[in-house]
Amino acid sequence: MILDGKHYAAELKDVLTKQCAALKVAHGRAPSLHVLLIGNNPGSLVYVSMKQKRAFDFGIQSTVHRLDETISREAVLNLINELNNSTEVDGILVQLPLPAHLNANEIIDTISPEKDVDGLTSINLGKLIRGTPSLVSCTPLGCMHILKKWKADISGLNAVIVGRSTLVGKPLSLLLIHADTTVTVCHSKTHNLKEHTMQADILIAACGDPKLIRKEHVKPGACVIDVGMSRLSDGSLSGDVAFDEVVHIADAITPVPFGVGPMTVAYLMSNTIQAMKNTHAQID
Ligand code: NAP
Repeated sequence: MILDGKHYAAELKDVLTKQCAALKVAHGRAPSLHVLLIGNNPGSLVYVSMKQKRAFDFGIQSTVHRLDETISREAVLNLINELNNSTEVDGILVQLPLPAHLNANEIIDTISPEKDVDGLTSINLGKLIRGTPSLVSCTPLGCMHILKKWKADISGLNAVIVGRSTLVGKPLSLLLIHADTTVTVCHSKTHNLKEHTMQADILIAACGDPKLIRKEHVKPGACVIDVGMSRLSDGSLSGDVAFDEVVHIADAITPVPFGVGPMTVAYLMSNTIQAMKNTHAQID
């Protein structure tokens, strides 16, 4: 079974565009997403322009704040506070990585948790630990959506995640715990990676190490989700899983591209719509 993220994202888009249209009728404007793009990181420029285009496709207003590489900490915090206080702004996202003189944790924690569509503020990460409703990081949400397409009930299964980042691995481990799976999180210091991955009914590779996961890492019948996206020297895009080998062993697998990537974008739009609903629930 090829888990077709592009198709699932298109299904989600149908639902979300209707919600956007309904919000526009009810409140006189579409949900709005504001992205801070600081500096000229080539990867960030591509990601931000793609998010802006996709937002338009969903019926979401998006604004990109292009800020100079040398912008001061105070100027960034002032802009975020301005956006926090604006009733015209629903979602705020700071594109990472940031220039070295800026502290990413401080800047992200300045975003109002109700507008934190990347789910990266301390408040939203804390709520995720507790399992109380909040805005959750988009890629983990996309992975959970894909897993539900594989099996409606994953309770009791062994889930192994390779990667422990705050953006992907850690929040995903919490969502999987809340879904009653038994979770192992591996990282670059893990000894005998294969011993862990071979126990996985659900194996999620989110390490940014192209084709690290080979057929000998995968238990027959496992569901394999490949979050990785690395640009190789020949310009091609690679996941963290050797797809051509693993596809013959896994019960289900996501491709790269068109697996997790489209779901991440769809959940960014979903979170922006949720943020607008949250704001209006407070006002109404
Ligand atoms: P990150 O912050 O660099 O974290 C990578 C994690 O993987 C770290 O925990 C690291 O361990 C671990 N790791 C690296 N090499 C490893 C190895 N050989 N064996 C075991 N663990 C290893 O990266 P990220 O932001 O989580 O992103 C991971 C990948 O997903 C990247 O390719 C990124 O481009 C991709 N991504 C894709 C999407 C999407 O929508 N498809 C979204 C976000 C990210 P340590 O903690 O010990 O360093």
